[in-house]
Amino acid sequence: MKRAACEKLIVVVITLGALMGNGNIRADALTDDAAAKGKYSNEHRFVFYAILEGLYEDGVPAEAINLIVPDVDAMADSKRPDRTNFVESCPLCTPAFEAFRTYKLRPVFYGQGGTKFSTFGFGVSAERMKGLRGSPSVRRETIRSMIEDYVGRRLETTALDDEERMDMELRLEDMKKDGHSALARVKRGEKGETLKKVYAGWKFCPNCAGIAPDSQDEED
Ligand SMILES: [Zn+2]
Repeated sequence: MKRAACEKLIVVVITLGALMGNGNIRADALTDDAAAKGKYSNEHRFVFYAILEGLYEDGVPAEAINLIVPDVDAMADSKRPDRTNFVESCPLCTPAFEAFRTYKLRPVFYGQGGTKFSTFGFGVSAERMKGLRGSPSVRRETIRSMIEDYVGRRLETTALDDEERMDMELRLEDMKKDGHSALARVKRGEKGETLKKVYAGWKFCPNCAGIAPDSQDEED
């Protein structure tokens, strides 16, 4: 069911419940998915959808995704490898990582008459592909530019008025500051020597910098 239709149905059920005097109807009417919304902020969901949509629209190929989230295949509940290209406990890296991971694990579209399409676009530019294959810092810069595109597109296509858009951008900016603090803690060695070495060359978080861009976030 489409989200708008689903929300309308919930409103109808809640209204009917209220008219019938059933005080518990609201909780009963909420689906698990609707209840789960409370666990994730608007900004978290905005970033997740922006990146997932961008990946599908561009048709980002497997090689590119494997360079961005190389650890996903080894990921299981009992084993959590480091998330290359992402900062642990960064509030913007988390939805960004989940979007890349979800896209990587996507199914092939059903009923394609023998074709195996699983995405919409035709791939990334040769320049971007070269950047992703480049050194870690060049790769992070490329990830930043991809995310900046995707978040920019979603800001343009989401029905936000000027005030809502400014509010969203300010909150993303705040989350980026938390992400940069998390990166700084790791670089200072507060999360252990191994992670300190992993992040030693990072000048900025590519995900945060793409989501809330400013002129400070550039590799040399
Ligand atoms: Zn981050």
